[in-house]
Amino acid sequence: MQLLRCVRAASCLTAMISYEEALQIILSDNCSSSQTESVSLPQSLGRYVAKTQSACINVPGYDNSAMDGYAVRAEELAALEQGASFCVSQRIAAGSIASPLKKGTVARIFTGAMLPEGANAVVLQEDTVVDENEKVSFTEQAIKGRHIRLAGQDIRKDEPVVARGQRLNPADIGLLASVGVGALDCYRPQRVAFFSTGDELKDPGEELEPGQIYNSNRYFLESSLRELGLEPMDLGRCPDSAEATASMLLRASELADCIVTTGGMSVGEEDYVLAQAKSVGSIKFWKIAIKPGKPVAFGDIKGVPFFGLPGNPVSSYVTFQLFVRPWLLRAMGAKNWNHQRIVAVSNFDFYNRGKRLDFLRGTANVQSNGQLRVSLFSNQSSGVLSSIAKSNVLIPIKAGCGLRAGESCEVIVLSALGSDLTTV
Ligand code: AMP
Ligand code: MG
Repeated sequence: MQLLRCVRAASCLTAMISYEEALQIILSDNCSSSQTESVSLPQSLGRYVAKTQSACINVPGYDNSAMDGYAVRAEELAALEQGASFCVSQRIAAGSIASPLKKGTVARIFTGAMLPEGANAVVLQEDTVVDENEKVSFTEQAIKGRHIRLAGQDIRKDEPVVARGQRLNPADIGLLASVGVGALDCYRPQRVAFFSTGDELKDPGEELEPGQIYNSNRYFLESSLRELGLEPMDLGRCPDSAEATASMLLRASELADCIVTTGGMSVGEEDYVLAQAKSVGSIKFWKIAIKPGKPVAFGDIKGVPFFGLPGNPVSSYVTFQLFVRPWLLRAMGAKNWNHQRIVAVSNFDFYNRGKRLDFLRGTANVQSNGQLRVSLFSNQSSGVLSSIAKSNVLIPIKAGCGLRAGESCEVIVLSALGSDLTTV
């Protein structure tokens, strides 16, 4: 059994595994978050709820008026002839306590104010006439229940307000405030240590010398992590050397819950990450049959999950989206950790002649007839980072398969939080 496992592990490192196998290995990693912390409401935007939160009160807490006007007994108005007038027995503003409505009278009432006991309708102030004796007559009939917000019509006591695994958005935060929740239990954000490898890399703001390029992976990675609500730990650039790579991997493992590197994943003389990850940690797989992004490794360094992404920025970006993102979201306790997949109609012909699953970069737009159409970015080279910046979906095409204009296909939405589709 042990031997079989070793043989399997070894074959994962030499042969390419499929996209599905890679995902299965990654997601079978026991990554669910268990650490939680209490987070105050103003700090909770983008956090993942650790415990379903139920309302301890009804919202609204009491029947109240939806408009400025008069609280009445509808049947008393109906019984009297048109033009009959009523004394105003009380004035109820929002925030004050109403007394029971005296028979044969009406109450002046304002939006949000408590409905007096006995009243069953509100008549708009526009539909009333006040005479010189301050008595009120009505130009419209009162309809039972009209302009009244009933207690609990928004949220009922004990009803769940936000559920475990949900990412909090501004509306959720407003809802929590409406039931009086000032702090709630959320999962602790995963700390993700990352570094980029490559002696050719410089940072924006520095002068480029011949043969050098700007480090783009460092910046998209940091912002992707922030966008997902994680805690990025930027370890900077690692020189192309075995010693530096090994020591940075070890440092990352001491600091973080997860490690992500870019570059140095092939077996060229200047590629050190794979070899050093094997030396100071262990690797579950290395090559995936996808394009872009074949050389992706997953394993651990001293027990800390490790993703080694390719250096090529398009490959880094795509593999981050396909593999790191779902792992991290699950680890953060997110219920919706998977990609959003939607169906669109292709406006291009494409045939995948290669042996790997292609993830084409494209744009899905909602047409004026409501149809979602996907078009291909003009340059699919894995060196063209604009193909990512100008796209909002990945279009998977299996090896040996094609797609014709007019056919429907499933596309993966490239957005941290969900749909980001444009309308044309
Ligand atoms: P590597 O995987 O290290 O062989 O790098 C593959 C290609 O990606 C090379 O052309 C590198 O110069 C480029 N590259 C590697 N890392 C980065 C990075 N952080 N930012 C931009 N380009 C990079
Ligand atoms: Mg390199």
